[in-house]
Amino acid sequence: MKINPYAWIEASLATIHRANWYRSVQAIHGIPGATVLVAGVEVINFASNDYLGLAGDERLLTAAIAAIQEFGTGSTGSRLVSGHRELHSELEKAIASTKQTDDAVVFSSGYLANLGAITAIVGKRDLILSDQYNHSSLKSGAILSGAALIEYPHCDVAVLRENLIQQRQNYRRCLIITDSVFSMDGDLCPLSALLDIAEKFSCMLLVDEAHGTGVLGKNGAGCVEHFGCTGRELIQVGTLSKALGSLGGYVAASAALIDFLRNRASSWIYTTALSPPDTAAALAAFKIVQAEPQRRAQLWRNVNYLKKLIKELPQLKLLPTESPILCLQLPSATAALTAAKQLREAGIFAPAIRPPTVPTSRIRISVMATHELGQIEKLVAVLKNISA
Ligand code: PMP
Repeated sequence: MKINPYAWIEASLATIHRANWYRSVQAIHGIPGATVLVAGVEVINFASNDYLGLAGDERLLTAAIAAIQEFGTGSTGSRLVSGHRELHSELEKAIASTKQTDDAVVFSSGYLANLGAITAIVGKRDLILSDQYNHSSLKSGAILSGAALIEYPHCDVAVLRENLIQQRQNYRRCLIITDSVFSMDGDLCPLSALLDIAEKFSCMLLVDEAHGTGVLGKNGAGCVEHFGCTGRELIQVGTLSKALGSLGGYVAASAALIDFLRNRASSWIYTTALSPPDTAAALAAFKIVQAEPQRRAQLWRNVNYLKKLIKELPQLKLLPTESPILCLQLPSATAALTAAKQLREAGIFAPAIRPPTVPTSRIRISVMATHELGQIEKLVAVLKNISA
């Protein structure tokens, strides 16, 4: 009997549906801000990574339009062939200046930056130690690299150290990889302790600042600045698509490492260069991040106000957080979906995040600098009626 080789797809989809893990897209209309139009209805937006409200900022729009008019919509080639523009170098200088590193290199997304950096610097003879809650791009990079991989329990420095005592001598190079702000929990990695361990055991440390850049640190340089670790040797990766309001990713590090990545990172060499409008918008955003610390201050006022109001509602289980990402733990995927639906019906957009993305289901709330206090109060008024 002939077996249909594609029959498994329907069966797998049915399994996803049964577990209540099925996901689908929904269109957002207009320029997203503190409010957005979803399916024609205006809702308060607690689902965005646009922490500083820059994705709709006039200065980013103007920069992107001017870049299209000057350079066209696409960059037409990879950086090493015909895709490089002066604009890319300007952006790389702005990133290196914010991060206070020798140099930086811009990738077409944060995901590609992690894949490119990890697979370029470690391979079969090496060891990666990865936080259990790391973003998918770090995990995929680790697997693709071919290095031996140990996942350590979330932020558990003692277990990490123990693994290194047991294993370090068996490998050529060793790389520790971690999110700086954990994207689905909102807590921070123990950066100083990780750096101390990396130094003690001769390991490289790669920190993904996707949710830290623009948000943490006096100058918005991220978790590295927040913890006073600027200038210590490490590899900083990030995205231009969250607080920077654009698209793209980057690695900021020593001149030698960046030079090496330009020669060895496949996801940089063999892909089309970041488009002119994305590059110009990100550059405009870095200038705003540096020039307008008041945006960051407003973001943190909003975060602290929301945290204070949520803590007054003991029925809500807020996961420990030190970032604009606030997660409310719910007992099941079904409960999280019901809560997200209740919120939506009351005019609030905050997604349910379920396995396999996270181990336990939750509502994920992202605070923006541009939220008004009344919008935060409305969120809390609706949350009061949600049973955890
Ligand atoms: N790292 C982390 C921690 C992220 O949250 C994300 C985006 N979800 C990425 C990397 C990937 O960035 P990008 O969206 O630019 O590919």
